[in-house]
Amino acid sequence: MLPYGRQTIEDVDIEAVTATLRSDWLTTGPQVDAFERDLAEWTGGVPVTVVSNGTAALHVAYAAAGIKPGDEVVTTPMTFVATASCATILGAKILFADVEEDTANLDPAAAAALTTERTKVIAAVDYAGHPAEYDELRKVADEVGALVLADAAHAIGGTYKGRFVGSLADLTTFSFFPTKNLTTAEGGGVAAADPELMKRARRFKGIGMIREEAEYANPNDGGWYYEVQEFGVNYRLPDVLCALGRAQLTRLGAFKARRTALRARYNELLADVPGLRLPVERDWVDPAYHLYPVRVLDGRRREVYDKLRAAGILVQVNYIPVYWHPAYAELGYQRGMCPNAEKFYAEELSLPLFPTLTENDQDRVVEALRTILG
Ligand SMILES: *Cc1c(COP(=O)(O)O)cnc(C)c1O
Repeated sequence: MLPYGRQTIEDVDIEAVTATLRSDWLTTGPQVDAFERDLAEWTGGVPVTVVSNGTAALHVAYAAAGIKPGDEVVTTPMTFVATASCATILGAKILFADVEEDTANLDPAAAAALTTERTKVIAAVDYAGHPAEYDELRKVADEVGALVLADAAHAIGGTYKGRFVGSLADLTTFSFFPTKNLTTAEGGGVAAADPELMKRARRFKGIGMIREEAEYANPNDGGWYYEVQEFGVNYRLPDVLCALGRAQLTRLGAFKARRTALRARYNELLADVPGLRLPVERDWVDPAYHLYPVRVLDGRRREVYDKLRAAGILVQVNYIPVYWHPAYAELGYQRGMCPNAEKFYAEELSLPLFPTLTENDQDRVVEALRTILG
């Protein structure tokens, strides 16, 4: 069986985890701060707070942005549901803007057409790892005083115009799920350069607890004292998992290089397979690719999916347009709203891509596709 993505766990990871298990700290110890510091080396120095998973990261980011009922969020439908649903559960109204026809990233012009003075956040996704058009999105957001959020669950380790993912938006979220560019089993992070946003993110993920005396509303009652001024949740990432994340981060550069090489090899080997359209890359990005998304033309996506799965090649489809989910349909969202996204969904197939994928594995995928489509 060949999955579309999988983790790379080596002895250094196992040693890092077992050493932490033997230490005094299972959670909220030195590995958390160290992992956050290490992550900032991949965000161009932008501070990061780690959280329980990528969905939690989105919830924290929207909470830090102050999303409340009546606010509007403009986002892409070509993503995992959490990009939108984490704002919905805070009471926001979601406006789905269509994607660029080729990259499947949020189209800045489509986003601009939906922004109003109620828009609080424009949330882009770096689909497959390819950064969205952040300079254009920034202009759109500035016109209405909105924040830009990057759901970079696919994209840590990449750059856009020479700047790191993590430094491109006001708030950036990461996921460390096993199939992503690095893993902590479950885990995620929120990056923000603005100290006020970062403070709000840290408080929300930590039950709203405040321990800085200068910030207390009431007198300090003693060494045990803390205050809650705004409610929060517990989305802490334990020390044990932060140790795993640190070990993984030391190889993020190597993972990226391997993913890049495999992508280039797919591009070459698949170039002459009929009925396929291969992914594009803008000149100004240097992505760390999470997915290798091909387009299966002529209405044959379902057939190719079924035949590859039957051959033990566990391809995936990323993604069902978010507003197609019954939870959004019940809110009145209708199919047909974002034609580029719907067409992309109808054709998309994510081929196996992960650092330990061998060239033999890759040849097997290519040959299977050639047999089905040739
Ligand atoms: C994986 C993913 C998430 C959610 O991350 P989890 O760690 O699985 O909660 C959010 N957005 C996108 C685009 C993702 O791919």
